Amino acid sequence: MDLRKYIRDIPDFPQKGILFRDLTPLMGDKDAFNYTVKEIADHFRTFHVDKVAAIEARGFIFGAPIAKELGAGFVPIRKPGKLPYEVVRKEFQLEYGMSILELHKDAFKKGERVLMIDDLLATGGTALAASELVESLGAEIVGWGFVVILKNLKGEEKIGKYHIFSLVNFD
Ligand code: 5GP
Repeated sequence: MDLRKYIRDIPDFPQKGILFRDLTPLMGDKDAFNYTVKEIADHFRTFHVDKVAAIEARGFIFGAPIAKELGAGFVPIRKPGKLPYEVVRKEFQLEYGMSILELHKDAFKKGERVLMIDDLLATGGTALAASELVESLGAEIVGWGFVVILKNLKGEEKIGKYHIFSLVNFD
């Protein structure tokens, strides 16, 4: 299935000079959304995933149904101040500004096998910070799944030590 026709380009969002890839048409189409969730889950089906960890907010939309498909638990990685219990936190550089991610301290048991999910990989700053948070709790990352990778921003180099899977690549 060609998912590109469900991805809309929005120039100058959220800032001038950024071409934003909008996945809401893909999410809103029952065939495209179900295909996306199933293809990513199928790719990781033999990876023995205990938990799927996904990044607020668009990562949640894909991460939770992928966890359900795999019979795995779900762990949210969130923007600061959203998680109610004790957290570990990481500050990092974004394509447009600085950001912080937080994760509950008790989200993983040592050695648990974690599939990481986000909607899109750009510079890789978000994915690297999230990986460091998960590994700081002693969990093992079995791979990263994205719907879209923006190849020219070279995010794959930042998380090059992990197995990476995506359905759509843009140059
Ligand atoms: P990175 O840290 O790799 O530069 O940026 C990736 C993060 O920013 C992801 O969490 C992703 O949701 C968001 N992001 C950056 N650019 C885009 C874009 O063009 N489209 C979408 N949907 N998300 C983006």
